[in-house]
Amino acid sequence: MDAKIILIARVSDVEQRKALPAQKMRLERYADQKQLAYEYYEFDESAHKEARQKFAKLVEHIKKQTTLCYVVFDKIDRFTRDSSQEEVKALQQLVKLGKIELHFPHDSLYIDQNSSAADWFRLGIGMALAKYYSDSIRDNVKRRFEQMLAEGIWVHRAPIGYKNVIKGGTAQKPIKDIEVDDTKAHYIIKAYEMRARGMSYAVIAKELHKMGFRSNISNSKAPSKQFLERILSNSFYYGVMVHAGREYPHKYKPLISRALFNQVQRVRDERKHTKTKYDSKDYTLKKIVKCGKCGRAVSPFKARNTIYLRCANAKCDNPNTAESLVINGVTADIGFIDVPEQWLEKVINELRRRHNDQQTYYTQNITQTRAEYDKLKEKMRKVYYDLLDGRITQTLHDEIATDLEKRQQELNDRLKLLTSDNKDFQVTASYLLDLAQRAEMLFKESDDDLRQKLLEYVLSNIELKDKKLSYILNDPFKTIVETKKKSLSAHNSNIWCG
Ligand SMILES: [Zn+2]
Repeated sequence: MDAKIILIARVSDVEQRKALPAQKMRLERYADQKQLAYEYYEFDESAHKEARQKFAKLVEHIKKQTTLCYVVFDKIDRFTRDSSQEEVKALQQLVKLGKIELHFPHDSLYIDQNSSAADWFRLGIGMALAKYYSDSIRDNVKRRFEQMLAEGIWVHRAPIGYKNVIKGGTAQKPIKDIEVDDTKAHYIIKAYEMRARGMSYAVIAKELHKMGFRSNISNSKAPSKQFLERILSNSFYYGVMVHAGREYPHKYKPLISRALFNQVQRVRDERKHTKTKYDSKDYTLKKIVKCGKCGRAVSPFKARNTIYLRCANAKCDNPNTAESLVINGVTADIGFIDVPEQWLEKVINELRRRHNDQQTYYTQNITQTRAEYDKLKEKMRKVYYDLLDGRITQTLHDEIATDLEKRQQELNDRLKLLTSDNKDFQVTASYLLDLAQRAEMLFKESDDDLRQKLLEYVLSNIELKDKKLSYILNDPFKTIVETKKKSLSAHNSNIWCG
């Protein structure tokens, strides 16, 4: 009976790929020596995920042969590195049934139905050794990998806003690095800044697109919500890379501060919260009104398309009040806040005074933050002693230390913000000025969120009692409104000049 030869070449990692032609040559020479017809199969498991399935298919094909087959691998470690693999078991089974022989010419090992226990043992040992070597190579790769992560080196593709670059080395061993991609980085920063101010993904996408942002050359559309979401939650941008669920500080230049990143995460959480909890429309008087009878919060609710304000205290006898009944009074008062130019100086002085208050606030805040920072340092020392004295495990220590370090980092960022030139406050001041000049228009055109913030600026002690809303106008708006009301009743606009 004529036997048939099945030649099989396999590689399982990139390094071995170069050896494929040599494997093929040796296998074909073996077939020539036997002077038998042969089929040649090649599997590159490093490049093709489906290579394993193809191998399974080949085993099925071998099973169907009606003549005896010599299944030839160059060496035992080309046969398998994984003795638990189904196909390997199936082949061994076929040997025992006398349907095939396994030939490993390079190892001078030939296994057939009648092989001795010693030969089967050699095959077993050969397979075990192959597995041992491949595992230890993998371990080395993994160790190298972990070491790189510990050194702050990112081993994958750089996120958008950064780029992978090659800095010299040779073609075989290029020196790789990651740099800020100046053509894209400013878009990422812009996206974070917009999001921190509470803007929706849709608005940010539109703005970025208008500015010329394209996620890649072939894509001319505005970035998708998922794309933005991914960018706006990637801690890489403030200096922390995540690999396999663990965080490592990286060595590249951060695009944003941790504080800005945290602010953006808070915005996401808040938006999620408000979306599920409220139908956010039409609730201008949300969270800022108190009950004039019992002092509890008054909150809006919708019934039959009308918004009512209701005291949170079920036993309170303060009647529910339609929002439309009280909102016009507020709008009218806001309408009076409209500063003529001659008045601006006074307003600016008032703002300056407020700015000084703000400075005091900052100074206090800085002292407080420093104190908390020092306290954390003490805590970390204590946790470390706990570890040394065996009161806690290494894992627990690492967990606590990570938490504390995180908080410490936040405080650090906060300090940086507080000690920087108070940009935030300047925004507020110019906003206030803007507000003073065109409050009514702003109020009418804003969405409820912004209207609410405006009211918080302009009014305090907002109380609802017996279907009437009372409040105190804050300075300088109070003076503005009072003076203007007076001037109207006196029909004398000259009063502004005073
Ligand atoms: Zn009440």
